[in-house]
Amino acid sequence: DGYLSAIDAANETFNAYVAVTGDKAREMATASDARLAAGQAGPLEGIPLGIKDLFATEGVHTQACSHILDKFEPRYESTVTANLWADGAVMLGKLNMDEFAMGSSNETSFYGPVVNPWRRTNSNMKLVPGGSSGGSAAAVAARLCAGATATDTGGSIRQPAAFTGTVGIKPTYGRCSRWGTVAFASSLDQAGPIARDVRDAAILLKSMASMDAKDTTSVDRPVPDYEAAIGRSVKGLRIGIPREYRVEGMAPEIETFWQRGIAMLRDAGAEIVDVSLPHTKYALPAYYIVAPAEASSNLARYDGVRYGLRVEGRNVEQMYENTRASGFGREVKRRIMIGTYVLSAGYYDAYYLQAQKVRTLIKRDFETAFADGVDAFLTPATPSAAFGIGDEDLAADPVAMYLNDIFTVTVNMAGLPGIAVPAGLSVEGTPLGLQLIGRPFDEETLFSTASVIE
Ligand code: GLN
Repeated sequence: DGYLSAIDAANETFNAYVAVTGDKAREMATASDARLAAGQAGPLEGIPLGIKDLFATEGVHTQACSHILDKFEPRYESTVTANLWADGAVMLGKLNMDEFAMGSSNETSFYGPVVNPWRRTNSNMKLVPGGSSGGSAAAVAARLCAGATATDTGGSIRQPAAFTGTVGIKPTYGRCSRWGTVAFASSLDQAGPIARDVRDAAILLKSMASMDAKDTTSVDRPVPDYEAAIGRSVKGLRIGIPREYRVEGMAPEIETFWQRGIAMLRDAGAEIVDVSLPHTKYALPAYYIVAPAEASSNLARYDGVRYGLRVEGRNVEQMYENTRASGFGREVKRRIMIGTYVLSAGYYDAYYLQAQKVRTLIKRDFETAFADGVDAFLTPATPSAAFGIGDEDLAADPVAMYLNDIFTVTVNMAGLPGIAVPAGLSVEGTPLGLQLIGRPFDEETLFSTASVIE
């Protein structure tokens, strides 16, 4: 009830929730109390969580913050949320996000932008919380839930975590089941938590992760006790500092925090090594080919017949057209156009195939460094702190917006785990984050190293 009244009081300000499930929350909390009284408490018993609108929740608003999924209430539950409920967690509601998770500012949502709970010192300008999991990050930062689910295709967990001073981890591709999560780019999408600190993130990820026969890309490996990795010694670990993650125009405080993170890990006994990931500069352009290509294919299913919105026309073709024309927002349409273009005959080899080759090279860069004994990488999470809502330069130039993802997309392209942790405040008084990148399925090292610099 405490969280529900906090949401009631503050959601108008932040616009973090697009649906509040008060009755369901109370019902789940009552069941939780009964299990607690019976001594059958699960690991997350009674913990109130917010759920990104991308996760299918049975009988509850699930629209990926798109108009095209108008009033859609699935008859099934995503595996990730089912895992959380099985461990006793309680659902507070569905969280705002960029439409179909496409964006870095939460401004593409059909439900309007989310307001970052942080403000610059000496300015009242409203800032974005990052995206696409902007509602998740803002809700955690504003204490409108104890933790939240999120998803990350090119940075959507880590960038909003960095912009709001929270912790977000994208696990290894295959660690969490994608079943019941609305698909954006299937070969890149992964679910993960946004939480107040590293420990909470570890506890939530343990519950969310599972092998699932319903997702053929989920991996059959035991889920370790991530919480136990916190505080584990980092002595002797080799931490790579990739030279290519120092870009022009980066806020100078980021370099300071990066050096401070390096010093903290060194003091804790880790060995710091200078490394090169030479194909980093191609990651962003390649991502913005691969992701729209997969998206254009995944979004073909919204035709006015199967889900949500239908706008009638004189015949079925027109009905498709009308539905898609009014159901999808601008950014989603832009991605569909890019995606179908790069997949079309004549352009496929020049764009899509090239991008896939670049993807392999990016992956190899990491593999080479791991083979040389690097255990994890420390990098900035984003090149800047949160910017203003409605920033005109960014609105006019989608590519400038895409630049936000420069440090995060490599991790998705290579399928690796990455965690964003708060690093300190910018000169303007807004949060900045650092990122740790690990070996496949070695989230434990991310939790142990992240807890050193937290
Ligand atoms: N900002 C990136 C994009 O718009 C990443 C989004 C995501 O990770 N879901 O594609």
